[in-house]
Amino acid sequence: MMGYSYQDWKTRAESISFRGQAFVDGKFVDAISGKTFDSINPATGEILTAVAECGAADIDLAVSAGRRAFEDGRWSRMAPGDRKEILLKLAALIRENLEEMALLDSLDMGKLVSDAVTIDAPGSAHFFQWYAEAIDKVYDEVAPTGPGDLALISRVPLGVVGAVTPWNFPLDMATWKAAAALAAGNSVVLKPAEQSPLSALRLAELAAEAGLPDGVLNVVPGFGATAGQALGLHMDVDCLTFTGSTGIGKRFMQYSGQSNLKQVWPETGGKSPNLVFADCEDLEAAADMAAFGIFFNQGEVCSANSRLYVERSIKDAFVEKLIERAKAIRPGDPLDPKSKMGAIVDEKQTAGIMRFVESGKSTANLVAGGEQVTVNGKGCFVQPTIFDDVKHGDPLARDEIFGPVLAVIPFDSEQEAVEMANDSIYGLAASVWTDNLSRACRVSDKLNVGTVSVNTVDALSAMTPFGGMKQSGFGRDLSLHSLEKYTALKTTWIKYKP
Ligand code: NAD
Ligand code: MN
Repeated sequence: MMGYSYQDWKTRAESISFRGQAFVDGKFVDAISGKTFDSINPATGEILTAVAECGAADIDLAVSAGRRAFEDGRWSRMAPGDRKEILLKLAALIRENLEEMALLDSLDMGKLVSDAVTIDAPGSAHFFQWYAEAIDKVYDEVAPTGPGDLALISRVPLGVVGAVTPWNFPLDMATWKAAAALAAGNSVVLKPAEQSPLSALRLAELAAEAGLPDGVLNVVPGFGATAGQALGLHMDVDCLTFTGSTGIGKRFMQYSGQSNLKQVWPETGGKSPNLVFADCEDLEAAADMAAFGIFFNQGEVCSANSRLYVERSIKDAFVEKLIERAKAIRPGDPLDPKSKMGAIVDEKQTAGIMRFVESGKSTANLVAGGEQVTVNGKGCFVQPTIFDDVKHGDPLARDEIFGPVLAVIPFDSEQEAVEMANDSIYGLAASVWTDNLSRACRVSDKLNVGTVSVNTVDALSAMTPFGGMKQSGFGRDLSLHSLEKYTALKTTWIKYKP
């Protein structure tokens, strides 16, 4: 909450209780094997709690609970108005427990609690509310057949939706999938990332409290290669919605081909370009947002603006502005409202980021940051880092680093900027800064990405689809279009005497 002090958050964190069991068929249960894994706070290295390590047998139980619920219609055939009320209640419960939900994500994966409580947790409530409100407002179709034939084209829920989510926005990624899949009438089996399972488990409990029937939302924490794969290969899962890396997205497509041809919706990696033209009038705003675009959430954002293309005539001055901003963003305790950047999710991710930084030191010009640091002598933190004069083919400019590392690349013409921006295996998002309307439209037309933000970065709302082109995957979250992923078109043709 606004007004919470560092001490308030620390006190709350000490008294918070964690749900570490899996949530299956309306109950918290241990993994069948009895195995657990530790949930770790990357800001301190401390173990938060033991979490049920689910495997194929647990996934089986969760899927059959979801199937039973779907078949008996306790949710799938509940009156739309009643389903709406339950999801609205869930949105209200998330708002009532906003600080707890924010703390769970902050403690589990290192993001700033002040961001989690103003962005992630209210976002989750908002998205549940948004899809709840849609439930009794989406209409189906009647085909233009003429008298004697009545052909109904309806959208029907698929059955059991498997959802596998990443750790960078744990609550919101779980929400984007579950809110739309549930609104469409499906049962859901959610496998959160092993780095950050805690908010999804609490979400399932709140959903039950809101009146969601048993078995409709199941949360099975565990590792990707076991629990994730079992869900991907399951013969009775109708749809697998995934957000994570491109490599694992490809595996889910294979799992589908090896099993039951379930629909797969991958939303995967990115290396999003930000194009700043010299005719952009408010370069201060452009610099603020360029810094936000790469340093927000420690740069652990799939659509992070990690490639910055700046017109050569303003490049040096613009980089100076960015260096000032980077220096003002010191990593700090995620629970301290004064901190401007939190911890990296874990040691492995930190080491991966630092490998890019170390090799970048010999291929490009390091102008800010570049060091791994600790806070209060502990934890995984990386300074906001900027490399200038990065070459187009450098890994800094091509690979998804998923950390607070910006590659700056000068350009001389609009065409060159667009060509470099599009020369990527990814196509999730892009930003364009210019006050020339024709240029803004022309460049937006040419950028081969899912979302172009003009004179802002990372434009995102419940009203607009989010997802990518090329190897950023073709799944789309948010907006009414997301409901299309979780439904099938069904034709019912009725002959009558005209
Ligand atoms: P990841 O692909 O390693 O893991 C994502 C999920 O997949 C986790 O739940 C994990 O347990 C599971 N998984 C891992 N290996 C698996 C396997 N062999 N079989 C089945 N499941 C498996 O990704 P991550 O490191 O958790 O997240 C970072 C990635 O997510 C980045 O590439 C980022 O760009 C991407 N991301 C994309 C979006 C988007 O909307 N496009 C949003 C957020 C993050
Ligand atoms: Mn963790």
